[in-house]
Amino acid sequence: MKIAILSDIHANLEALEAVISDAESRGCSNYACLGDVVGYNADPVACLNIIRDLGCPVVKGNHDFDCGNDTSLELMNPVAAEALLWTRDQLNPEQRKWLSRLRMVRQVQDFTIVHATLDQPTSWNYVNNKFDALANFSFQISSVCFYGHTHVPRVYMCNEHMQELPAQTISIQEGSKYFINAGSIGQPRDGDWRASYCIYDLERKTVEFHRIQYDIVKTQEKIIQAGLHQFLAERLAKGD
Ligand code: ZN
Repeated sequence: MKIAILSDIHANLEALEAVISDAESRGCSNYACLGDVVGYNADPVACLNIIRDLGCPVVKGNHDFDCGNDTSLELMNPVAAEALLWTRDQLNPEQRKWLSRLRMVRQVQDFTIVHATLDQPTSWNYVNNKFDALANFSFQISSVCFYGHTHVPRVYMCNEHMQELPAQTISIQEGSKYFINAGSIGQPRDGDWRASYCIYDLERKTVEFHRIQYDIVKTQEKIIQAGLHQFLAERLAKGD
């Protein structure tokens, strides 16, 4: 069974459709979603409906939390807060309730999914280095855990030592634990604008990463048309 791991879609419909089409062509039969379905870009309803229609396990991201609840956005950067208020307006009460009811951590097959970290999932901490990953590993029971939140695809491997590995195809070795960031579909931040996702092959015990081109100009036009901040359109092309 091949499972496509989708993360940080952020209401980017063109990127999500391109990724799902690629995953289908590679024989993926199942999906798992690491959260932040909405926020930043212009198609929250369409993306939310696609993810719900997949019927796959989904965990809650911080943007899902803020759109599903009437949290104060005072401490958030103004561009993200403006996009969140706009997104709340697009969603109906039932869709917001669905977001608010998402779980923080889920076990799927033989692996775990979380948006930020397993040690304090509701604190939305960022895992950017080996030391951040170490805190997570002390709470990771499964051999493989997928996470998102940083929008940077990356692999941390823990056995006798901690290692940071590039986001390339890896073979899961028995006795080691892996904390794997699938990267972001809708707003990558590693300097590559293409949508990022990965595929976990349960039988072969491999994880492979993919970058997918999509109609970014269309996505940018929709952001401007929706009245969202121009910066959100510009950053997509830079991948930052
Ligand atoms: Zn995100």
